[in-house]
Amino acid sequence: MRRLCYNFRLPLRLYNTLSGKVEEFAPAADNTVRMYACGPTVYDYGHIGNFRTFVAVDILRRFLRQSGFKLQHVMNITDVDDKIIRNAARDKKTVQEYTRKYEEAFLEDMGSLNIERPEKLVRATEHIQEMAEFIAELEKKRIAYRTEDGSYYFRIAKFPEYGKLSKKDFAGMEDGARVDVDEYEKDSARDFALWKAPKEGEAFWESPIGPGRPGWHIECSVMSMKYLGDSFDLHAGGEDLTFPHHENEIAQSESLTGKIFSRHWMHVRFLLVEGEKMSKSLGNFYTLRDLLIKGHKPSAIRFLLTSVPYRKQLNFTFAGLEQGAKSVERLRTFDARIRMSQLPAGTNPSAQEAAAKAKSEMRAGMEDDLNTAYASAAIFDMVREANILADRGELREGDKTPLLEALHQFDEIFAVLKDDDAEKMKAAMEWARSHGILKESDIPADAISDADVNRLIEERNAAKKARDFARSDAIRKQLADAGILVEDTKDGIRWKRK
Ligand code: AMP
Ligand code: ZN
Repeated sequence: MRRLCYNFRLPLRLYNTLSGKVEEFAPAADNTVRMYACGPTVYDYGHIGNFRTFVAVDILRRFLRQSGFKLQHVMNITDVDDKIIRNAARDKKTVQEYTRKYEEAFLEDMGSLNIERPEKLVRATEHIQEMAEFIAELEKKRIAYRTEDGSYYFRIAKFPEYGKLSKKDFAGMEDGARVDVDEYEKDSARDFALWKAPKEGEAFWESPIGPGRPGWHIECSVMSMKYLGDSFDLHAGGEDLTFPHHENEIAQSESLTGKIFSRHWMHVRFLLVEGEKMSKSLGNFYTLRDLLIKGHKPSAIRFLLTSVPYRKQLNFTFAGLEQGAKSVERLRTFDARIRMSQLPAGTNPSAQEAAAKAKSEMRAGMEDDLNTAYASAAIFDMVREANILADRGELREGDKTPLLEALHQFDEIFAVLKDDDAEKMKAAMEWARSHGILKESDIPADAISDADVNRLIEERNAAKKARDFARSDAIRKQLADAGILVEDTKDGIRWKRK
């Protein structure tokens, strides 16, 4: 008998920027996906645009794992670049002192959004020697050259495939079409910097190719190949990185090894905020922390960031964020309702069917180039149908498991069910207060979360049914003390905050 093996069904179809097509995606070697995602440049707090990309990569990794693959996911921390060096010098700090606080904040923010830690997080500044050695190899092959001041450049003319990722045609392009903007002398204006000679008063490293600091692109070639091998499965980042960053990574790596660098390239579309490109001057620029201290829940932010598939443009709005919060609440309430309800024995075929349909539709959506919108629509369809059955008293004990399994399948990827919003927001408020961003009086007293209210109401109903009036009265008092008004209406229980 032929055994269907879920793990090797090769079901995921993913758009590959390199081929310009949606392709079947599976790891090349064994059951492990070796992937690299460009990480943050740690000179400031992460903004929601950054997190749009990091959440999208998190969705990919969670879905790959749910599909039975193992992961070797590497992400870099760019803790050296021109801006960092300038800002550190301005603040009279070392590069490390300047960047560590932003790196820590970034990792905390990842936690707030339930973004899983990659298997390996690597800092650029801990790989400077290896970068210098890589450049020395390129120079030996005459692909890199040194300029008089001690900087090194990549000679684009030596890599005829240059432009294959971004689909730009460089063959007929005149010198002067700038690939990398910088102030150094080079043979061709198209060539890009691998290594920059030190400038007066700025940080530099001693290395086998002389003193200086690495160009930006070299770190990702060196660190991805060190931890994943010369060729690996997938490379990801925001769409702005396609050119020149990723194009340059390919040029550096493939001209050195003669092998294909990453087989698959995933790029996340830039988000807009209230219909416009996010920018500080337009006043629509938000760090994750800005939103948390304004009282927005991290689960709602994560939900909104996942609501539009990664290749479609997401328009981040405050109305959308409110909608996201409601959607999350709906799921949490449903989860609590199903868990807590006491139902007659047996099963209801309609509920069984709704759960089975949700499970297969969620997979189908995710397999279709990570169509998160389709996958979440499937779970909400199930929730609606099961709620109707529950309201009519038609749900049965044996329906609980498949319904909760479908919710679990959803949450393994979307990760919004666990209600730890209040804690995370409180931590953000405390951070804001300790940094003088918020005053003590701006911080609301401990609030009870919506999901807690819903759970307590469910519990109160169960207690009433079981004629445990001491418990139901205690819950009523607890809710009243927290400023929650509970009304019994003919459509069931409603509540609001005082
Ligand atoms: P950076 O810290 O600037 O190196 O960016 C970190 C990641 O965020 C990169 O993958 C960028 O492509 C991505 N990114 C930056 N801005 C946006 C945006 N508005 N929308 C989506 N991704 C973005
Ligand atoms: Zn990179």
